[in-house]
Amino acid sequence: GAPEGDELLAGLNPEQREAVVYRGQALLIVAGAGSGKTRVLTHRIAGLIKSGEAWPSQILAITFTNKAAAEMRERVGHLLGQVAEGMWISTFHSACVRILRREAENFGFTKSFTIYDSADSRALVKRIIKDLQADTFGFTVSQVTAKISKLKNELADADSYARTANFNDPQEAMFVECFRAYSRALREANAFDFDDLISQTVFLFRAFPQVAEKYQRRFRHILVDEYQDTNHAQYSLIRELTKAPESNELSGLASFGGGGASLTVVGDSDQSIYAFRGADIRNIVEFERDFPGARVVLLEQNYRSTQNILSAANAVISNNFDRKDKKLWTAVGDGEKIIGFTGYSGHDEAQFVADEIAKLHEGGMAYNDIAVFYRTNSQTRALEEIFIRSALPYRVLGGTKFYERAEIKDAMAYLSAVANPFDGLALRRILNTPKRGIGPATETALAGFAERNEISYREAMRRAKELSLGPKVTGAILQLAGLLDEASELVDPSRVGGEAPVSEVLQVLMERSAYVATLRASRDPQDEARAENVEELLAVTKEFNRNNPDGTLLDFLTEVSLVAAVDDLDDSSGTVSLMTLHTAKGLEYDAVFLTGVEEDLLPHRMSAGEPGGPAEERRLFYVGITRARKRLFISLAMTRAQFGETAVAMPSRYLQEIPAELVEWIQSPGMASRGGSETRALNGSRGGSYGGVSYGSRSGSGSSSGSGSPRFGADGGYGLPPGPPRPKTEWANRVTGQVRDNGDLTLVPGDRIKHADFGEGRVNQVTGEGAKRVAHVTFEAVGAKKLLIKIAPIEKL
Ligand code: ATP
Ligand code: MG
Repeated sequence: GAPEGDELLAGLNPEQREAVVYRGQALLIVAGAGSGKTRVLTHRIAGLIKSGEAWPSQILAITFTNKAAAEMRERVGHLLGQVAEGMWISTFHSACVRILRREAENFGFTKSFTIYDSADSRALVKRIIKDLQADTFGFTVSQVTAKISKLKNELADADSYARTANFNDPQEAMFVECFRAYSRALREANAFDFDDLISQTVFLFRAFPQVAEKYQRRFRHILVDEYQDTNHAQYSLIRELTKAPESNELSGLASFGGGGASLTVVGDSDQSIYAFRGADIRNIVEFERDFPGARVVLLEQNYRSTQNILSAANAVISNNFDRKDKKLWTAVGDGEKIIGFTGYSGHDEAQFVADEIAKLHEGGMAYNDIAVFYRTNSQTRALEEIFIRSALPYRVLGGTKFYERAEIKDAMAYLSAVANPFDGLALRRILNTPKRGIGPATETALAGFAERNEISYREAMRRAKELSLGPKVTGAILQLAGLLDEASELVDPSRVGGEAPVSEVLQVLMERSAYVATLRASRDPQDEARAENVEELLAVTKEFNRNNPDGTLLDFLTEVSLVAAVDDLDDSSGTVSLMTLHTAKGLEYDAVFLTGVEEDLLPHRMSAGEPGGPAEERRLFYVGITRARKRLFISLAMTRAQFGETAVAMPSRYLQEIPAELVEWIQSPGMASRGGSETRALNGSRGGSYGGVSYGSRSGSGSSSGSGSPRFGADGGYGLPPGPPRPKTEWANRVTGQVRDNGDLTLVPGDRIKHADFGEGRVNQVTGEGAKRVAHVTFEAVGAKKLLIKIAPIEKL
C-alpha cells in the first residue's frame, strides 16, 4: 500500500500515481510533453520524505536548469508543508561543483578552483592556437573548442585521445597538441571548464572508490528530469552513483534497496534537442537494458495544451520516423485555432507579434504568461526594436547576457583572481585593466617566470622586482599584487569577524583599482553605461549577501558561473519573455509565439549537413509548439535580415506538416490589396483590417496530388503576395508538377523583366552568387522587391 498522504496522490491520474508510489530499484517514465513528468518527480520526492522512507539528504534530483531546480524545491516544500533541508535538487553541473569543491584536494586541485565559462574556454583556446600557430593548419577557435567539448562529453581526455590518434595526420597531431596545452593550462590555473565539471567527477569516482562510496551511501534515491538530453558523461555519472557501495561497513544503509540507490528517470525522446552537445537519445532507449528489471510507466494524458495545439504537435512529430508512436490526448477541449502569419520582413512579423500581444493583454492575459520563441539570438533585434517602440515590457532570456559583457567579465576576473591566485587567465585579464602601462611583453615575462619557478601567477607578481623590468612597470605590478593580497585577507576564513561580504570585496577592488573611476572619466558615452553595469554587479553582490548571509566569495563565483540562460527568468516581473527554442524546454506559457518558421532558420542551415539534423530541428519545433497552453501563433517573413544582409526566406518545411484545419492564416498587413500599399505595411499601420481575412483553406497543399491551390507554390516560394505559407521549391514543384529553375538566367542592372505576379520592372542590382543570386527590382506596380533569381517566376524582356 502507498504510505503517502492523500494530498500527494489526489490530483494525479492512475499512471502518475503508479509512478509516484513505485518502490523498485529503477523506474523509467516516458511520456510526451505536458503529461506531468516533472510533476510526478516532484510528488515522488515529497512522498519518499513524507512517508519517512528517506531523509531529505538521501535525495539527489537532477533538473535541466537552476531555475527548474528552485521551482522543484519550492513545490516539494509546498507538498510537505515545510522546507526540507539538505536535499540536493540541482543541475548536473551544480551537483558536480559541490562534489568537486569537497573533494578537489584529493586530486591535485584546491577547493577554490575557478570555473571557466564558454567565453573563458574560447579565450584560452584562442591563445593556444596563436602560441602553437595552429591557425596555419586552418584551425579555428570554434572548431577546437567544439571538438574538445565533444571529447570531454565522451569522457576522453587529452591522453586517452592521444593514444588512438593518428599522428601521421599533421592536423590530428596538431589537435592533440592543442588539447594537451588546453588541459595543462586549465590545471595550472586550478580551473575546470564546464564539461570538466561532469567528466572530472566521473574520473574522481573511478580513481577513488572510497570517495565514490561516500556518495553512493549518501544518495539513496536519484531522480533525473529531461533524461533524453543526458550525454555520455552524465550517464556515466549516474551509473557511478547508483552502484552498490563496495565495502560492507555501514551495511545497514548499504543494504537498503538491495545496495545501489534507486533511480527514477523521466524523459521524452521526442524532445531530445541537445545532440549537438553530445546528448544521446540511446540513454533513454536503452534504459531497460542498462537497468534490468526496470519498471516503465507511460503517461498519455496531456494537461497543458488545448486539443488543437496538441494535434498540431502530434502531427508534426509523427514525421520523424524511427520513433515509438505516442498518443497524447487532452481533456481541455479544442480551444482556439492556431494563428499563422506571413510578414513581408522580420520587422513586419515583429509588429504582428507586438500587436497580438497587446490584444491578449487587453483581453486580460498577464505579460508573464506570454512568450516569444526564435531559433537564433540574432532574431531578437527586430522584435526588441518593435517592442520598445510599442512600449511592451519584455525580457530577453540568455540574449546579450549580463555576465558576458566585457566590464562585468573584468570585475568578475578581479574576484576570481582574489579567490584563486593560480587563475592566470583572470590575472592576465586585469593586469592592464584599467591601463597601468603593463604591456604584452611584461605579461609574457610574468607567465614565464611563474612557470619556470613553479609558483602561482600572483606570487610571480609579488616577485616582480626579480624580473628587472622598468621601475614604473614594476611599481604597477606590485601595487596590483598588493591590492589582491589585501582583498584575499578580507576573504580569509580565519579573519577576525569571519569573511567579509562579497560586496565589500568588490567595492574595495573596484575603488582601489580605479576601474569604475576610469570608466566615469572617459569621454566615450558607452563607458558611462559600462560603469553603471559594474554598479549593477555591485547590487547583485549585495542581494547575494542578503539571500546568503553565510555566502562566501567562492559561493558567489560558483553561483554566477552556473547561471543558465533560463535562470534570468523572474515570473513575478510582468514582462513578456523572449528566448530561443532551446531555452524554452520544460517551460509553459498561456500564449506562445513561434517566430521565424522558415527554411534555414527552422530547420537551421547548420543542421542540413548533420546526420539526423532535420529530425532534431523538428523536435525543436515540437518542443516550441508544446510549450503553449491556450494560444499558439506561428509566424514567418518573406525576407529576413541576417549577417547584415537581407535575404529571401522560404516557409519552413514543417509548416505543411500541421493539418490545415488547425491553422487560421492571417494575411500580411497592407498586402491584402496587391500593388501599392506596401509602404503602409512597412510603416506598421495596419488599420486592423487583416483580422478577418482567412487563408484557412489549403486544400491539396499537404499532398503531392497536384491539385494544390493555384496560388500556392506557383512561383516556388518567393514573390507571391503573402498569405498561406509558400513551400520550398522542390516541394512546390512536386505539387504543381512544374519545375522552375532560372539558375542560368543572366541579369544585369538595367535589364527589364516580367514577373508573374508583380508585372514589369527594372533590375537595379544583382547580388549574391550561384543559386543565391538575388535581383533587386523596381516594379512599376508594386515598387522595390528582391527576388531569388533561381526560382522567381520571371522572364527577361
Ligand atoms: P515537459 O515534457 O514539457 O517537460 P512534463 O511532462 O514535465 O512536460 P509537467 O510540466 O509536469 O509536464 O506538467 C504539465 C502541466 O500539467 C503542469 O502545469 C502540471 O501542473 C499539469 N498537470 C500534470 N499532471 C496533472 C494532473 N494530474 N492534474 C492536473 N494538472 C496536471
Ligand atoms: Mg517537464
